[in-house]
Amino acid sequence: MSCTTEIAVPLLDVNRQNVPLWDEIEAAVRQICDTGRFVHGPDCRQFEAEMAAYCGTDHAVGCASGSDALLLALMVLGVGQGDEVILPSFTFFATASAVWRLGARPVFVDIEPDSFNIDPKLIEQSITPATKAIILVHLFGRCANMAAINEIAAQYGLKVVEDAAQSIGAEYQGHRAGALGTIGCFSFYPTKNLGAFGDAGMLTTNDAQLADKLRILRDHGQSPQYHHHLVGINSRLDSIQAAVLRVKLTHLDRWSGQRSTNADRYAELFAAAGVDRLLQLPEPPSDGHQVWNQYTVRVPEGRRDSLKTHLAERKIGTAVYYPVPLHRQECFTTLGYAEGCLPETETAAREVLSLPIFAELTEAEQDAVAAGIASFANDQISEAA
Ligand SMILES: *Cc1c(COP(=O)(O)O)cnc(C)c1O
Repeated sequence: MSCTTEIAVPLLDVNRQNVPLWDEIEAAVRQICDTGRFVHGPDCRQFEAEMAAYCGTDHAVGCASGSDALLLALMVLGVGQGDEVILPSFTFFATASAVWRLGARPVFVDIEPDSFNIDPKLIEQSITPATKAIILVHLFGRCANMAAINEIAAQYGLKVVEDAAQSIGAEYQGHRAGALGTIGCFSFYPTKNLGAFGDAGMLTTNDAQLADKLRILRDHGQSPQYHHHLVGINSRLDSIQAAVLRVKLTHLDRWSGQRSTNADRYAELFAAAGVDRLLQLPEPPSDGHQVWNQYTVRVPEGRRDSLKTHLAERKIGTAVYYPVPLHRQECFTTLGYAEGCLPETETAAREVLSLPIFAELTEAEQDAVAAGIASFANDQISEAA
């Protein structure tokens, strides 16, 4: 029996990155309270400019959440009743609900097993005369296969919306997420790589007309005030969130680097412990740079849930993103997707397990994760013997 000193390892601990910045953040927040400009204040404008510069786009438009960014993106592209939008099913719910809420039909496409991202080879067969746009998701911090997606979109005249909620700073062929399609959508929900102290979101684009219209749509469609030529929504960026995010953005690349270091270290630890046979580890992309919003392994042969339980008993936090693919959600039954129609998506939903990867994770904590997985692997071998 091997015996390791037990340390609890959280899946994510946002305090470790917020507490060291607290003095700076507190001063920024106090300044907003002093001026009383709680919504769309100067920090919002500045944060928009900084996000545009960071992503390498001409424009960035703040809004209230990543979910609203997706909704606004589809609204500004004119998606509505009778339209179809192609998207992956292996993603967070908001990617599809934006389509549904506008009265359009989500058309789900299967994923590539290695990247977990939408499989461009399967897009063309899903295109109909009603198809208006493709939403791709750069899942877990890794960019989708944009060259192939943009080629299809150009051929069929489709708009391309990037759900970059998990991928701020990720690169594909030298360009950053948010600058790879028609419109990029970001979330600053506290668990994302750049996390606010609440909800916030952002849209990026190189199209000045779309940016202007997005600024109007996020504010009830009014321009000037009390004159509505569009029906928009209330999805304004909160000044306090913008101020917090401005402080944190200056540290983002350092945090992304730490996440990469952690990912490399996991690969070494798992190889050394010989658990690379039990787990299928994520392979880095060859045409870009990922930012590791999640470190997601596959645990084949029905062992995922027992490994998750084993780690939970050792106080090691893990999560399953996502256990039920969107095409199998109860609210979408009327779309008629039977079990088995997106096989790679359904296999991934059974096999994936995300391990702690946040920037401030310590080496001792990573060792505990590896030891926990190794002890599970040993139990499996002795059971089989
Ligand atoms: C978090 C997330 C969203 C939604 O962002 P919110 O800010 O929570 O509304 C959308 N898509 C993906 C892929 C996400 O991970």
